[in-house]
Amino acid sequence: MPETSSHKTLCVHSGTIEDPVTHGSITPIYPGTSYAYLDLEKKAYPRYFNTPNQEALAQKISALEHGEAGLIFSSGMAAISTTLLSFLHKGDHAIIQNKLYGGTSNFIANCFDDFGISHTTTAGLAIDDFDACLQANTRLIYIETPSNPLLQITDIAAVAELAKTHGLISVIDNTFASPINQNPLDLGIDVVVHSATKYLSGHSDICAGAAVSSTELMQRILGRAKNFGGSLNAQTCSLLERSIKTLALRVEQQNRNAQEIAEYLNSCAHVDKVYYPGLVNHEGHDLAKIQMRGFGGMLSFELADALDTTVYQKALKLIKPSMSLGGVETTICSAAMTSHAVLSPEEREAEGIKDSLLRLSVGIEDADDLIADLQNTFAKI
Ligand SMILES: *Cc1c(COP(=O)(O)O)cnc(C)c1O
Repeated sequence: MPETSSHKTLCVHSGTIEDPVTHGSITPIYPGTSYAYLDLEKKAYPRYFNTPNQEALAQKISALEHGEAGLIFSSGMAAISTTLLSFLHKGDHAIIQNKLYGGTSNFIANCFDDFGISHTTTAGLAIDDFDACLQANTRLIYIETPSNPLLQITDIAAVAELAKTHGLISVIDNTFASPINQNPLDLGIDVVVHSATKYLSGHSDICAGAAVSSTELMQRILGRAKNFGGSLNAQTCSLLERSIKTLALRVEQQNRNAQEIAEYLNSCAHVDKVYYPGLVNHEGHDLAKIQMRGFGGMLSFELADALDTTVYQKALKLIKPSMSLGGVETTICSAAMTSHAVLSPEEREAEGIKDSLLRLSVGIEDADDLIADLQNTFAKI
């Protein structure tokens, strides 16, 4: 395909492998696990991450993230754990952002010690908080922005610069923003990881993950990945490749819907507080404006008047109470009952997560219908 920087065009065309038989417009599915090897330099095998469907998809995601190389995994956690253990060894230390996806926090808290890797969790999201964690054996910084569920914003360029100054590898989980809204490699980050289960898939029916970086760093991740074995099968690669063709359209609609809903909730008497980076009263708004092209489809809000979150969720007609996020359908969930359920109410309070907090993953429906559902539900209860 010709050179382009347009995400819309890249979503549709990048990575596609032309079928040599039909010359059709989509990458054919190559489900094989046994390929020829004599007189061939490349020995293809699914666990080597080098079959045609894996490579077509890796190239598409890499193009969207402005990277040199990509790798597709069987889940977001496979991408995250493999990436972290590619750069951290016995005796190393990592700086970890204090607000992370629960599965990532769990992995770091439960497994790093066993591998002889130490870590410090930052006190906050300011660059000084990261700087304060530096040690002589620090090798890596790990961030996630916008964060779950309060959509706090970390300064990506500042973290990348801190890492470069001290010769560290910087890794970001870009799941919430998606490559349509944010390209951290352009801001100096070394490795981007994704739970492709969310926006990249977009239809709540695929579990997958991805990592994107320079060719050199990807060689190191690939070395580990072949041993850990978290590759994705051809059929799911093909489904995910299809999903990403509409990623830009979906995310742009989700951005618009989320902005409208955030503004409605912000002016609603039954809501105490709204957390959305697209609102000027959000503490990360100015930073988000600099490093994001769109503010995303995730937002959270606190119910006022001691309204019960379970009663409210059950009374909704269109919006579905459900875990996970990033689908075309709008979903709602309580952080206190899901991602942060293992914490005590006091610990949650310390994290700023109230029992009255609800998180919306805004879909691509008509914004008026979504707002009507939220509004009618307030009237009903
Ligand atoms: C869901 C999620 C993950 C984990 O991805 P899986 O595909 O469930 O393994 C990691 N990071 C973020 C931000 C997520 O939302």
